[in-house]
Amino acid sequence: MATVKSICVYCGSSAKGPASHAAAAVELGRRMAENNIQLVYGGGRVGLMGILADAVLAAGGEVIGIIPKFLDELEVGYFEATRLEIVDSMHERKSRMAELSDAFAVLPGGLGTMDETFEILTWRQLGLHDKPILILDQDGYWTPAKKLIDHIIDSNYAAPKARKLVNFVDTIDDLFTTLDALPDAKLAVEAEKL
Ligand code: AMP
Repeated sequence: MATVKSICVYCGSSAKGPASHAAAAVELGRRMAENNIQLVYGGGRVGLMGILADAVLAAGGEVIGIIPKFLDELEVGYFEATRLEIVDSMHERKSRMAELSDAFAVLPGGLGTMDETFEILTWRQLGLHDKPILILDQDGYWTPAKKLIDHIIDSNYAAPKARKLVNFVDTIDDLFTTLDALPDAKLAVEAEKL
């Protein structure tokens, strides 16, 4: 994992889900800090987002938050971040988060998390980046998303290769083991025909 210096994490702005989800956010944050991997995220202090950022800082790691102006108040910008960038729009936020990261990890979350995840998947499908995308299927939370991708492929709206765009992992341990085993990320590579 030598080349992974920063991971963009998408996760819920709520923490009202099962306690195991918050525990996963804490473990991910701690292990990122221990591995000197910077957290890039949406810059909020609410929900799993805040729990994750707290865990990174508590373990001595770095947190880069990217938040649009209008959400800075709603989600309450995480001013303790090592760096908090205030941007003009959601689109700018997502681009900036992608730009600053070597890999993407997805924890449980809501519609925003799903939007961010599918966008980064489609950007990879289009060859705009070739950075690893790992989805933590904590307690089967994202199994419906995995099934949806299979359904899309079975219905010929994506080629079977699309399965390779993303790695579903069951635990934070698996996440780091999988990341370690993946080839180095390539930026803006020529798209493989998917
Ligand atoms: P959620 O998973 O809905 O709790 O949202 C997680 C993060 O995604 C939060 O930082 C939200 O601001 C963000 N988000 C919510 N909706 C969208 C959207 N349509 N596009 C991009 N990000 C979003």
